[in-house]
Amino acid sequence: MKKTVLITGGSRGIGAETVRLFIKGGYETAFFYRNSEEEARRLSEETGAVSIKCDVSDPGQVKESVKNARICLGTAAFDAVVCNAGISVNGLFTELTDVQWEEILGVNLNGAVYVARETLPRMISRKAGSLIFVSSVWGETGASCEAAYSATKAAVIGLTKGLAKEVGPSGVRVNAVSPGVIDTEMNREHSAETMDVLKQDTPLNRIGRGEEVARAIYFLASDDASFITGQVLRVNGGFYI
Ligand code: NDP
Repeated sequence: MKKTVLITGGSRGIGAETVRLFIKGGYETAFFYRNSEEEARRLSEETGAVSIKCDVSDPGQVKESVKNARICLGTAAFDAVVCNAGISVNGLFTELTDVQWEEILGVNLNGAVYVARETLPRMISRKAGSLIFVSSVWGETGASCEAAYSATKAAVIGLTKGLAKEVGPSGVRVNAVSPGVIDTEMNREHSAETMDVLKQDTPLNRIGRGEEVARAIYFLASDDASFITGQVLRVNGGFYI
């Protein structure tokens, strides 16, 4: 029987590359998106993956959409779940508005919690499965003018480690990837100069590609990572060692 995967934030960037890789690996694949209808439709056409509109910051939508994804893929429990959906907020911390904070917390942390909470029980019952969170190098080191983002991504690491201990005895593995600077729309608001500095601060002397993060996610989902849990796999070109 084919393996199944659910990927959040699959319409663009790292998530879209992750969808492509899992499809290539033979997984029945479903992904969530929020706003990018057109990109989601095109990716679905290209790959055959099931696309479902779901705002991960809304627990009601997550509950309903996880159920839909299970039905569409014809599975009782996913073999792998990738909590990738994320947003960033740039600016001085002292100017962070309540709305910005609620939104980034809602997507980056609450979204990961809601999706994990909805998908884990059946993985636990089946005593198998792999849950992968997408954190960030900024969650490990902190970024100036991205303190709120850094806080949510650090929290995701805590979630990874706590859950790994809690569900390990049930045969479910929980890991995170921590990307460095990756060429996606998330970084488009940075100036060319800023991107150049980030590149120079990366020992491999380049910006990463979405597919390079996807490969790490795919590895953590696979049986090749069968004794790996509670880990944060850095995909950062040496930016933070
Ligand atoms: P993009 O901005 O390219 O893509 C973000 C994805 O998340 C889109 O598919 C978007 O869907 C989805 N998304 C955003 N909000 C929601 C929501 N509320 N519900 C469902 N989906 C949502 O970003 P990246 O691909 O770069 O980022 C992917 C992950 O990697 C994020 O968690 C990010 O924090 C992390 N990361 C990225 C780095 C980078 O340098 N790019 C570095 C470190 C970590 P839609 O467009 O349909 O709304």
